Amino acid sequence: MATATATATKKFVYSFGGGVAEGKADMKALLGGKGANLAEMSMLGIPVPPGFTITTEVCAEYYKNDRHIPEDVIPQIVEGIAKVEALVGKKLGDPADPLLVSVRSGAALSMPGMMNTILNLGLTDESVEGLAAKTNNPRFAYDSYRRFIDMFGSTAMGLEHELFEHALSAMKTERGVKLDTELTADDLKELVIRYKAIYRAHTSPSHDFPQDPKDQLMKAINAVFNSWMGKKAREYRRIEKIEGLLGTAVNVQAMVFGNMGNNSGTGVAFTRDPNTGENVFYGDYLINAQGEDVVAGIRTPEPISRLQEEMPQVYDQLLAIREKLERHYKDMQDIEFTVQEGVLYMLQTRNGKRTGTAAVRIAVEMAREGLIDHQTAVQRVSPDSLNHLLLPRLDPKAKERPVARGIAASPGAAAGKVVFSAEDAVHLHDVHPSDPILLVRKETSPEDVAGMNLARGILTSTGGKASHAAVVARGWGKPCVVGCDALVIDEEAKQASIQGHIVREHDFITIDGTTGDVYIGKVPTVDPEMTGDFATLMEWADEYRTLKVRTNADTPRDARRAREFGAEGIGLCRTEHMFFEDQRIVDMRKMILADTTEARVKALNDLLPHQRADFIGLFEAMDGCPVTIRLLDPPLHEFLPHDDSGQLEVAKQLGIPVEKVRQRVAQLHEQNPMLGFRGCRLPILYPEIGDMQVRAIMEAAIDCAKRGVSVHPEIMIPLIGTVEELKILKERAQALCEQLLSEAGLSIPYLIGTMIEVPRAALTADEVATEAEFFSFGTNDLTQMTLGLSRDDITLFMPTYLEKKIYKIDPFQSIDIAGVGQLIEMGVRKGRQTRPNLKIGICGEHGGDPDSVAFCQSVGMDYVSCSPFRVPLARLAAAQAALTNGGKVQRDK
Ligand code: ADP
Ligand code: MG
Ligand code: MG
Repeated sequence: MATATATATKKFVYSFGGGVAEGKADMKALLGGKGANLAEMSMLGIPVPPGFTITTEVCAEYYKNDRHIPEDVIPQIVEGIAKVEALVGKKLGDPADPLLVSVRSGAALSMPGMMNTILNLGLTDESVEGLAAKTNNPRFAYDSYRRFIDMFGSTAMGLEHELFEHALSAMKTERGVKLDTELTADDLKELVIRYKAIYRAHTSPSHDFPQDPKDQLMKAINAVFNSWMGKKAREYRRIEKIEGLLGTAVNVQAMVFGNMGNNSGTGVAFTRDPNTGENVFYGDYLINAQGEDVVAGIRTPEPISRLQEEMPQVYDQLLAIREKLERHYKDMQDIEFTVQEGVLYMLQTRNGKRTGTAAVRIAVEMAREGLIDHQTAVQRVSPDSLNHLLLPRLDPKAKERPVARGIAASPGAAAGKVVFSAEDAVHLHDVHPSDPILLVRKETSPEDVAGMNLARGILTSTGGKASHAAVVARGWGKPCVVGCDALVIDEEAKQASIQGHIVREHDFITIDGTTGDVYIGKVPTVDPEMTGDFATLMEWADEYRTLKVRTNADTPRDARRAREFGAEGIGLCRTEHMFFEDQRIVDMRKMILADTTEARVKALNDLLPHQRADFIGLFEAMDGCPVTIRLLDPPLHEFLPHDDSGQLEVAKQLGIPVEKVRQRVAQLHEQNPMLGFRGCRLPILYPEIGDMQVRAIMEAAIDCAKRGVSVHPEIMIPLIGTVEELKILKERAQALCEQLLSEAGLSIPYLIGTMIEVPRAALTADEVATEAEFFSFGTNDLTQMTLGLSRDDITLFMPTYLEKKIYKIDPFQSIDIAGVGQLIEMGVRKGRQTRPNLKIGICGEHGGDPDSVAFCQSVGMDYVSCSPFRVPLARLAAAQAALTNGGKVQRDK
């Protein structure tokens, strides 16, 4: 009956290359990035060796099906092979003239080197002879075969790649040569025999290297699917927070050969410099080599510009493709190519990973070139990547001289304690979590990512700009220098020598990933500036941004820096930071230890001039901008010493008995200081503390105003839970402000508002807003109190919580939208019910987190406030949030 056959089988296999393109670039979820772009390049008429992509859905099915490829997929694979055979004019397994293919992984998101690729599949004892005869190049044929046995053995059969590497090294030593390319055809033929012996000896159950290409192919496809759940791949997805993908696609593609002699080669390149963003063709190639040689960093490759001398025609063709790809994708591309006997083939293209510096420059320059518009430029740069432009640079005035120079692979300066293995990095971090680590290796491999992730910087002695270390470091915005020939590492002895200097484990080294320079010891660094393309992109962002961006700053220096980065005011000045220096802490302690109000007032009066001077500095630095000053917040015991000798010293300093200090410390001790005598509770009990601070603020404002500085003080009362608290404190503060202003005969616009950080304040925001003239969400405390989590006491369990996905993200880094977010949303809505024009912002750490900024935009806040170095990031995140919301603030919900 028709019903039995009517359901058309689903398409699991998509062909590309040789004029065919069944897929296209926007099918990445199904075909993986590699497969989708191979199809897209084919469509553009770019030479791509023919092949086909098995979809990511098959990978998902494979795992559902207990690691078996579903039956109905097999015929489509067979058909895919037949198409390739027809296009190439060779047959898989033909003993006289075999078709060889590569089997390549490729998920929707790029995971460089995380999964396995098998090249030269289809070679057997018989067909290798055919290939040798047909190409008249036995050296090439046996080189290809021994590579295939290695890759198949290590990838599909799980043998140690080192087994084969050792056999290769041994052969080179026996023959007295240094380079792989110096081995003869006979050497390689011998090597194949040894490789097959290794294969037989180490497979279990032991078996011979498979001689049926179809069998080879199916095993290889299985191996790629298996690699999706391999340790490396899972680790990478964990670190990169990659979730929700179906799996990897598998690309089976006709081989082209870069190892056919000196008119062949292979390379990788970026259409622009991925470090600086400069519009130059940037990359490496190797003559007479297969792809993985360049990426693995085993041989040090030549810069792409040399190709112009060696193969001018190929170089020109490559330049034309570079142009075409950029114009088509409208973004910087990362490409892989192979030249077979003078003929160029493209093997991959994808949007290139780049440093933050490069991201900004490329976006701005592409907009200037007319490839993209300003809006796209603003949306193209991820806010987090700006951290890279805000990295410290080596102090130009530093006198240290570099001892060596390697290849600048990922910019920024880093000084750290040297470790020679990823495991040692992990170990050092476990023991001394705050020690800066510098990972020094010959080369890195995917096994090293955990240690690399912990390092401040990475230095390798081999490898080029496309080596594993370089690619991964750039992705993470970590300073990295590779190919530093002068560095000789003795991994066993855990030491290295650089130009005669001996470096031992845990000695300091400094690297400059912008220049490639390497220094012995710790070189001083300086802070970055916002100029050039960076400033331009920020201006463009401001065209779309509706949220204001302020900064959290307690000193004029921080305030000025934040302003240079574009801050439009201070959202949080923490006054407690002003009580620790020199004489101030003494006066502060006097105040805390005072027996009478009178004595307390006297100590406060000594503090007043200091506070006033601090605020004058801040108002001057923020001339014309609002400055929110929070009254004293932490519990008082934080200002007293808890140990005997400290208490003895304070007693001596203040001329009081030590017993009294002890008593007061004991009295102020709290079981849970986060929920104790702090915030607004202090001035409710000791109004004179609040008076002193309010007076200092207003006198500073008056002083500035008299000198023509435009001041906009905002007095912020912390930890309000009920409107009554605010009412008492506001009335008193207001009375004092009015008195001071009328004495000065001035009128200065000022506001008195509150932090919303106790959940009850958010819940009763309509009431609180009857008094508050502004709200500032203190999301650190609000998160603590809403989740019942003390931020300082989560280190033991938070990693497990994140691993188990109990929290998807650390709620102290990014707002917990489902929980805390509801309180914020409600607080904003209820607050504005009472006071429609209530000014609302956020001043917790979240103010510098892009996702949280987007959330603040969506609930209709007026501003976010963050630390000075995150101001540019918040500006960009705010612009992107405005663009995603169509530029409209969604106030009514
Ligand atoms: P990765 O995702 O790790 O980059 P690829 O699938 O791109 O892995 O393969 C690794 C290398 O093998 C590439 O650099 C490419 O040069 C080479 N390669 C893959 N397929 C072919 C092919 N059909 N012909 C020649 N070289 C190939
Ligand atoms: Mg690749
Ligand atoms: Mg707080």
